Amino acid sequence: MNPFSYTRAAGAEAAIHAGAAHGAKFLGGGTNLVDLMKSDVEHPTALVDINHIGLDSVVKMADGVRIGALVRNSDLANHPLIVESYPMLSHALLAGASPQLRNRATTGGNLMQRTRCYYFADTAFPACNKRAPGSGCAAINGFNRIHAILGQTDEGATSAHTCIATHPSDMCVALYALGAKVEVDGPKGKRVIPVTEFHRLPGDDPAKDTVLGEGELITGVTLPAAKFAKNSWYLKARDRQSYAFALVSVAAGLEMSGGSSGIIKSAGLALGGVAHKPWRSAEAEAALVGKPATRETFVQAAELTVKGAKTYEHNAFKVELAKQCVVKTLMQAAQIT
Ligand code: SF4
Repeated sequence: MNPFSYTRAAGAEAAIHAGAAHGAKFLGGGTNLVDLMKSDVEHPTALVDINHIGLDSVVKMADGVRIGALVRNSDLANHPLIVESYPMLSHALLAGASPQLRNRATTGGNLMQRTRCYYFADTAFPACNKRAPGSGCAAINGFNRIHAILGQTDEGATSAHTCIATHPSDMCVALYALGAKVEVDGPKGKRVIPVTEFHRLPGDDPAKDTVLGEGELITGVTLPAAKFAKNSWYLKARDRQSYAFALVSVAAGLEMSGGSSGIIKSAGLALGGVAHKPWRSAEAEAALVGKPATRETFVQAAELTVKGAKTYEHNAFKVELAKQCVVKTLMQAAQIT
């Protein structure tokens, strides 16, 4: 581990000031960052501890809910406002990590999670454009069972742009389906970013996971007024029943007219484990609206979620798995057995 300075910020303003130093990183729960520092993947020059700056409450607003960036994943999953009005988010949080990690991990930190691509986390493999920009991609011709099938940059193993990594978060998949927004503050002031625009596809810069600028601090997440509380679900397909990242996950919410067996008024649908960011398919959502909540409707939408998928030696199974998971999740959300 490289040497670094440590500062405990007393408030958000002090944190932003300290975080503006080149190479500084904010320390919340530290469940991902500290692991990566120990593995010699992350090398911050300064850690700014933000655990004592507040931002740790869940507040009901006139038009939704505001979640402080430092609300722990366990507290958020079990908060009455979330359990009652956004159960999909509660389920997604409880599907992630272990109880010990959820007790420590924060809402802001969950948004900032880095990929679990084996080659990114293991410095014995020199080729990784995300860890060492310009070095190539070991995964594309390596063991790529957990890797992306959508939105990847795929120009060959030696290209400086190639990255087929997936985003690891469960929470974020639910936030995408719910249409959340991310509030940030930084050296250039405050801004609000729709969560669907917060994470990046690899494009020509795989090292960059999000659109955050240097020194910008996540201060909170807002959820719009609840409309999927009665008809929503989160499904996670993984190799083990607990403490494993998703091969494919799906968050789905349906707003129904005429009860659970009626017509779909609006839909939120996002997939995890298939792309560099949670994958929200506007085309699949549009295909659900105005249709009856039937298996046939859901099968048609599922086909659209994987439109344009490209697979590699070990992950072709994800296309069919994703479609099956989408249908099953929508059936659960619609309460169809
Ligand atoms: Fe690195 Fe991305 Fe390739 Fe994984 S998929 S080795 S994170 S460049």
